[in-house]
Amino acid sequence: MKTLEGQTAIVTGGAHGIGFGIAKVLGAEGANVLIADIDREGADRAAAEVAKSGREAIGVAADVTDKSSLEQMAAVALARWNRIDALAANAGIYPNYPLGEITAEQFDHVTSVNVRGALFSMQVCLPAMIEQHYGRIVLTSSITGSLVGAPQYGHYGATKAALIGLMKSAALEVILEGITINAVCPGNIRTEGFETTSPQHRARMLASIPLGEFGEPEDVAWAVRYLVSPEARYVTGQTLVIDGGQVLPE
Ligand code: NAP
Repeated sequence: MKTLEGQTAIVTGGAHGIGFGIAKVLGAEGANVLIADIDREGADRAAAEVAKSGREAIGVAADVTDKSSLEQMAAVALARWNRIDALAANAGIYPNYPLGEITAEQFDHVTSVNVRGALFSMQVCLPAMIEQHYGRIVLTSSITGSLVGAPQYGHYGATKAALIGLMKSAALEVILEGITINAVCPGNIRTEGFETTSPQHRARMLASIPLGEFGEPEDVAWAVRYLVSPEARYVTGQTLVIDGGQVLPE
């Protein structure tokens, strides 16, 4: 696979967890990386870490629920590198609520970060990609919702399934523009966010992974690395599951 030398990648939610893993791998593979996160200091720290690989990396404060902050994010990338080749629309949250207790506000918040955030992130990057006639977008969905369910994560699963629906139609809309849109579906990945889930939840998850261990952010990042490569030009509207075999057993 060719290096990503000369390419620009944007990673939302890149200060921590899976997004940080993606940023590190894309940087190590040659891309200049913009890390956008609601946690500005974390984004700067992550960018400093990615820059150790010798690439340019910058941190930007962005809340994916706020389109104007995402417009700013894209403008920063374009001012610095004059192109946007890859977008990992990864920012997401996964609070758990019993089905009967979730409020309209809680439901709307999870939806606005996980679904509207991905939509807005794509919207601000697509004009540059269309102009370049080249782009690679990867959404971070999940096995939860798109393939399986988990108690107290119904609202979350709904957002992650929605992302798959969004991806398929969006992929078709830009298919003649040299742009692909795919999704990764992680299983249970050891991240800062994941460590905040209950010990009982994590124990149940671990017991259901045939490989017998949680995934690492880099396991997801390498899947993203493939999907953002020029070589993946004929793959669009697809999901790639990275879960240590969790959804396999009968
Ligand atoms: P994480 O460790 O919590 O990292 C997520 C990052 O996104 C954090 O830096 C967070 O900032 C940031 N963020 C939250 N809300 C944001 C917003 N509105 N705008 C911009 N950035 C925001 O989470 P993760 O486990 O890496 O999860 C990343 C993605 O993978 C999510 O979409 C999640 O649904 C998905 N996923 C994760 C797993 C897993 O097992 N970890 C499995 C399947 C799918 P703060 O820390 O300041 O909130």
